[in-house]
Amino acid sequence: MELVKEHIEQLRAMLSERPMKIVTVSHTNPDGDAIGSSLAWAEALRQLGHTVTSIVPNRHPYFLNWMPHIDELVIFKQDSERANEAIREAELIFCLDFNALSRLEILSEALGANSSARRILIDHHLSPEEGFALTFSYPECSSTAFLVYQLIEALWGAECITREMAELLYVGMMTDTGNFAFSFLTPELFRAVAVLLERGIVIPDIHNRVYNSYTAGRARLFGYAINRKMKLIHGGRVAHMSLTEEEMRRFCFQQGDSEGFVNYPLTIKKMKMSAIFIEQHDFIRISFRSRGAVDVNLFARRYFNGGGHKNAAGGKSFEPMAETLARYEAAVEEWAEEGNL
Ligand code: 5GP
Ligand code: MN
Repeated sequence: MELVKEHIEQLRAMLSERPMKIVTVSHTNPDGDAIGSSLAWAEALRQLGHTVTSIVPNRHPYFLNWMPHIDELVIFKQDSERANEAIREAELIFCLDFNALSRLEILSEALGANSSARRILIDHHLSPEEGFALTFSYPECSSTAFLVYQLIEALWGAECITREMAELLYVGMMTDTGNFAFSFLTPELFRAVAVLLERGIVIPDIHNRVYNSYTAGRARLFGYAINRKMKLIHGGRVAHMSLTEEEMRRFCFQQGDSEGFVNYPLTIKKMKMSAIFIEQHDFIRISFRSRGAVDVNLFARRYFNGGGHKNAAGGKSFEPMAETLARYEAAVEEWAEEGNL
């Protein structure tokens, strides 16, 4: 993967004008990559003398609480005044780890209404929206954190990456690749990890802080979801699970507790596609995962107003759970008949 040199030089020029007020924004339900890439990029910009505010629409999962600089994140849902002020004053807005402003949900309106700043996209999702002053869209890049690493390296050299920035970047790389197990695992990615190691990151520590820091309720909810709620269809090659608000309350659900559940059915031999339906106040949030050629980005776009990557995508349903699941099963059938499964 080669970054477009002309875009790098345009970015360099933009950032060299003078010290500026800059905002970074990332997607709703921010994950390790959204937060790791935003905070690391913000740190790199601060090294140049810029003033940077990183904003996310809502809170991150609790197992990311330890991440360096996470206290500086402005959470729009909790602190919209501070977020709006930073957006109003911003001269540049970096949009990290999402492909369409609608992914900001409650934050998208504030961004549209309060700002005429130049917007720059740094992302690895398919089908980026148009209208950015500058677009760094690399769907073949395994994480936005790895893209940020490459931008920093190309602009200023990897020497400027501090240990804290290295931890932030590693979290993004690790979580978006399923701990280095999914696609787009290139020699360049592992070379970047080697550089992060030289900066002093301790991989087992980061692994434990992210993957071995859940609550007991989460472990029990997982058992319940697999044992009681997993349904196999299409000859056992498609799986889905669902969790209602009542079920989540029963297991003292905290934001982030269902992270990773959707991957588990794919550990079953010959499984091609998995989905989880999580009930929220006003809609159902859906995650899709697939193996190999099965393209859940297309499936999510066509049936559930969503998108993402080929093997990991998401979407929404505004119908009740039973109707949503029935619609899903019908969609899988139709999709399979067309030869997509
Ligand atoms: P997750 O299932 O982990 O929430 O999301 C999987 C992938 O799909 C992520 O890359 C995420 O950004 C994307 N994604 C999740 N929900 C949506 C959605 O509603 N719309 C779109 N376009 N992408 C989504
Ligand atoms: Mn990502």
